[in-house]
Amino acid sequence: MSQTVRTRPEGSARALSEAYDTALLDLDGVVYAGGNAIVHAVESLGVARDGGMRLAYVTNNALRTPDAVAAHLTELGIATEGSDVITSAQAVARLIADQVPAGARVLVIGGEGLRVALRERGLEPVESAEDEPLAVVQGYGGPELPWGRFAEACYAIARGVPWFASNTDLTIPGARGIAPGNGAAVEVVRIATGAEPQVAGKPLPPMHRETVLRTGAERPLVVGDRLDTDIEGAFNGEVDSLLVLTGVADGAQLLAAPPQHRPTYVDADLRGLLAGQPEVTETDAGGGFRCGGWTATAGEERLELTGDGEALDGLRALCAAAWTAAGDGVCGLDGGKALARLGL
Ligand SMILES: [Mg+2]
Repeated sequence: MSQTVRTRPEGSARALSEAYDTALLDLDGVVYAGGNAIVHAVESLGVARDGGMRLAYVTNNALRTPDAVAAHLTELGIATEGSDVITSAQAVARLIADQVPAGARVLVIGGEGLRVALRERGLEPVESAEDEPLAVVQGYGGPELPWGRFAEACYAIARGVPWFASNTDLTIPGARGIAPGNGAAVEVVRIATGAEPQVAGKPLPPMHRETVLRTGAERPLVVGDRLDTDIEGAFNGEVDSLLVLTGVADGAQLLAAPPQHRPTYVDADLRGLLAGQPEVTETDAGGGFRCGGWTATAGEERLELTGDGEALDGLRALCAAAWTAAGDGVCGLDGGKALARLGL
């Protein structure tokens, strides 16, 4: 990547919903959590769309079809069509279609979302290594996926059939704890075969390409809650990103982010789409960074914060101090006390 290293969150005089034509929204931890809408999500997305912003939903989950995801969002109060949803199943189906003849058979280890996406690209989903597949594709199959499906993948891969994976998210956080995701299932097949899959999902380029192809976005804004998928995917696609703090990422992760994990903007939740973003400026004396009423500096061992005001402004100032100190590395300074002061 030839991008310059980001050393502070950017400001925007205009509301982000006006400065960008399309929001490419992650779902879990951004729009909903455990099936329920996240606070402020439904109203904020409604206002953004009424103002002319195109909304598209981008998910690494390959199990559910776009129509099923759209029905869920509509039920939550966010009217959505299947064509507004882009999945890693669609991205991997295109990746496969680019490499096998039209109408080729593809062995599916996964769920309905994968089968629908393969048919959309003119490929034929099959269930057995004996069906002469020209590709193997693996996507999250849900808790009922039988172990024998992995054996089927291994038989085909051992014969030299190319192997593809929708995504490699290792875990799926749920109400009862952390469950194994498709990445864990991919590891099972990798250990047994010694082979390497081609992967489509976030943060890799096939997913971003699929999203731009389907939305026609010219000035997209990626909106996500994870640094290593959403924000890194935006970095790899060389587009701007907004991190919201309603999901996985927290203040400590953000301060310790390497360059590819640093978002363009940071906000508490999706209300951030409707607002401008404050500038972070360097202090007159130099060495410190100011945002709102806060000033952050990098000390010998820890990040220091003085002033008061909005917690998010304090976090933005701390990001500038940490990222500037880290350069193209990772900031090792302790930000715990400063974050505690912000309640973050
Ligand atoms: Mg997420």
